[in-house]
This record gives sequence, structure tokens and C-alpha cells, in this order.
Amino acid sequence: MPGQHRWRKRFAGHVCRWTMPREAILKLLSQTTKHLSAKEIYSALLRSYPGIGLTTVYRTLDLLEKTGMIKKFNFRQGESRYEFASENKPHHHHLICTSCGKIIDYSDFADEELELVDKSAKHLAEKYKFLVQDHNIEFYGLCQQCQKD
Ligand SMILES: [Zn+2]
Ligand SMILES: [Zn+2]
Ligand SMILES: [Zn+2]
Repeated sequence: MPGQHRWRKRFAGHVCRWTMPREAILKLLSQTTKHLSAKEIYSALLRSYPGIGLTTVYRTLDLLEKTGMIKKFNFRQGESRYEFASENKPHHHHLICTSCGKIIDYSDFADEELELVDKSAKHLAEKYKFLVQDHNIEFYGLCQQCQKD
């Protein structure tokens, strides 16, 4: 069927076009501890991939997020930020400085914090018959440096 053939060709082209940015974005995010915005990712990739477009970066980030390879966070200020999600990277919570925008990952949880998360999940499961599978915990405030300034 000629129609199907044409579709296959177009599909192959599509795969090629998005494999490159996908690999590049994964590499970039896996090598940084930062939580990058789409625009920051775009600027970083421009050096090695001069032809890359911002739309491609957004689309690729969406796809990577759907596959669970990266995580998207909508922290209060500004744009969404992305970070690499892998089994080697421990589950962590965030401290976000509302003054300089610094984001601190922490996974050295206090026992009380783990207990709270655990108890809350159980409570919500009973009350709303909701199966909690994941959570984001963010604390907003001022980092050590910004408290001094
Ligand atoms: Zn947690
Ligand atoms: Zn700060
Ligand atoms: Zn993080």
C-alpha cells in the first residue's frame, strides 16, 4: 500500500529527528545536579547542536517525561524545571530559595518526615480510596546565603 509506505517513511524521519535531541537532553540532565528549564537546556545544546530548535526541545522534554526518564517540576517561580530520573539517583525532596532561586535536593530525611509521608499516604488511602504512588515535597524559604544578604 503506497499510503502505508509513505507513512513509514515519514515515521522514520520523525524518529531520527527526535532521537538526537533525546540522547543529548538525557546526557545533559544526567551530568548535572541542577534542575534546568527548557530554555537553559536549549542554550546548553545549541553549542553542540546549532540546528536545534526550542520547539524540538519542549517536545522532546514532554516525551521524555511521559516515559519516566526525566521528572518535571513546576516550582513556584517561573518555568518548569527538569531533572534526570534514574534508579541510581535517590528519591529526594526540595528546598527552594524564593530569593535567588537556588534548589537544594535532600534525601537525608528526618525519621519524622518519613513517618509523616507514610502515615499521610495510609490515611489518604483509607479516606479517599486513593493509591498514592509518588509525591513531591517542596519547602520554600531563604537559603543560608540569602538570609545573610
Ligand atoms: Zn519523599
Ligand atoms: Zn538564596
Ligand atoms: Zn531535585
